[in-house]
Amino acid sequence: NPLLTVNNVKLTIENKPILKGVNLVVRKGEIHAILGPNGAGKSTLASLIMGINDLKEPTEGEIIFKGKILNGLEIYERARLGLTLAWQDPARFEGITVEEYLKISGKDNPELDVVECLELVGLDCSYLGRFVDETLSGGERKRVELASILAMRPELAILDEPDSGIDFVSMEDIANMIKTMRERGTTVLMITHREEIAEVADRATLMCDGKVVQTGSPKEVGEKFKTMCVKCEVRNPELV
Ligand code: ADP
Ligand code: MG
Ligand code: MG
Repeated sequence: NPLLTVNNVKLTIENKPILKGVNLVVRKGEIHAILGPNGAGKSTLASLIMGINDLKEPTEGEIIFKGKILNGLEIYERARLGLTLAWQDPARFEGITVEEYLKISGKDNPELDVVECLELVGLDCSYLGRFVDETLSGGERKRVELASILAMRPELAILDEPDSGIDFVSMEDIANMIKTMRERGTTVLMITHREEIAEVADRATLMCDGKVVQTGSPKEVGEKFKTMCVKCEVRNPELV
């Protein structure tokens, strides 16, 4: 039961091929990890699925969500269809408190409990009155961003490196948070370059050099990542 299909997607920016024919199927209800070294094209693929940074259309191929072709749609149209993206580097919202941000995110969620959303990402209620700006650390902003997705309960959440920048977060905390998202009806596409984080997934896809290398169990894909990406890193030492 495919929720999202990425069909032979190619993207060339200024004559540089970034994505070279990506195929990916995310099934409804699954946690799907995308593994790959730095520079593989993971964040670019996420931007293209969500339509951010003017990446509204692949050079070739199509992206299909719930049977609708997303190519050319605006971000808000994709959001309305039930898609959301948690950025690798979360945005700041000057003048908006954490409580307001979570309430805006969860406006269509009748069971919204903002304190619980914070607790699930390891923050207590003292954060409700804080502002979503540079007075939060990078790790705190990242947690607030993840809490906003718990508040929103989208049909598909793309999480770009949910573990990055969060100090001392255990794999178990991340795993529990992602499992909670799924229990509440969100399908999760989780991008990471740490194969131990991918273990929470039902299935995993390995990307390297703008291509999909393999889709399978997190265990087998993690093994492939460890052996193969040694080669990627040798080729692209500055990206490690
Ligand atoms: P990952 O998320 O897997 O680390 P990225 O998607 O961020 O990889 O980047 C993939 C490649 O695309 C990198 O070589 C990066 O420099 C390049 N790239 C990404 N965005 C742009 C852009 N707007 N213009 C030119 N090159 C880009
Ligand atoms: Mg990167
Ligand atoms: Mg990235």
